[in-house]
Amino acid sequence: TGFSLGAADGKQQTGHSLILTGGGSTYPSFGSDGSGYKLASSLGHRIIKPVPSTVPLVVKDPLCHLLQGQRIIARAQSRIQGKIGNPVDGELLFTKYGLSGSLILDISQEISLAINRLNIKDVSLETDLIPFMEQKQLETELTNRHKMGLTPEDMLTGILPGKLCLAFKQLFEKENPSKAAAKLKNWRFEVSGTRGWNEAEFTAGGIDTKEVDPQTLESKLVKGLYLAGEVLDVNGKRGGYNLGFAWASGYVAGLS
Ligand SMILES: Cc1cc2nc3c(=O)[nH]c(=O)nc-3n(C[C@H](O)[C@H](O)[C@H](O)COP(=O)(O)OP(=O)(O)OC[C@H]3O[C@@H](n4cnc5c(N)ncnc54)[C@H](O)[C@@H]3O)c2cc1C
Repeated sequence: TGFSLGAADGKQQTGHSLILTGGGSTYPSFGSDGSGYKLASSLGHRIIKPVPSTVPLVVKDPLCHLLQGQRIIARAQSRIQGKIGNPVDGELLFTKYGLSGSLILDISQEISLAINRLNIKDVSLETDLIPFMEQKQLETELTNRHKMGLTPEDMLTGILPGKLCLAFKQLFEKENPSKAAAKLKNWRFEVSGTRGWNEAEFTAGGIDTKEVDPQTLESKLVKGLYLAGEVLDVNGKRGGYNLGFAWASGYVAGLS
């Protein structure tokens, strides 16, 4: 028993064991194009549907187009079929197609799993655009400004960047200060999709870890086959955990 590998340039390699570290599907131009999953699948492994993670979101809201290039610090929670996720803080970047920035990358996995794996359509982001002020405090401030006779475009001056003050001008033309405060503290963006593999940092999904010995990373299905790195259904948050897992698991697989 053993393995025989044939490379595209015709070279052959044989051995008694093999470590498969083909990576995920992100940034296919770097070489990890999902072919590791095909190899594992051809050897009998179950592949949990890979979806892009840590990825910008596609949002059809005129605000995004209007504010493209603008960054603010915000807080958001996913809303998937009415179920609200944990709050995430960070930088929100408005783009031509929707939203990006560290906040979006950090919240994107639960959204990508819902849209791209479970085919759920009812997905949105509940966004607090002014997280550094309590709603009551914002309401009082806006009411005072309203009483002072500030114009709608000046109602948010000093609270949000100028471009946003102009973008929310209509909100103050239509709503009273307390309703406007409530909207700014809970702005809902309907999410229609995620950007694709060329813009995702990680892959969520991959070879089912139940089929791998956690001590040695040897396949439970094929003797001598070891699996390590992003080809496995393991992924962590941003912050070096994925690279850390790739290196550590490659080391462990190589010990046997
Ligand atoms: C833009 C970007 C930013 C990232 N930032 C971070 C970060 O800040 N922190 C972090 O922890 N992680 C980050 N990651 C993720 C991290 O890079 C991966 O988790 C890690 O590289 C996975 O290592 P790996 O060895 O399993 O796979 P990869 O690094 O993808 O390596 C797989 C290798 O296998 C080769 N290969 C694939 N298929 C075949 C085949 N059929 N035949 C021959 N060779 C093949 C590929 O060419 C590639 O060299 C980022 C990823 C991207 C794309």
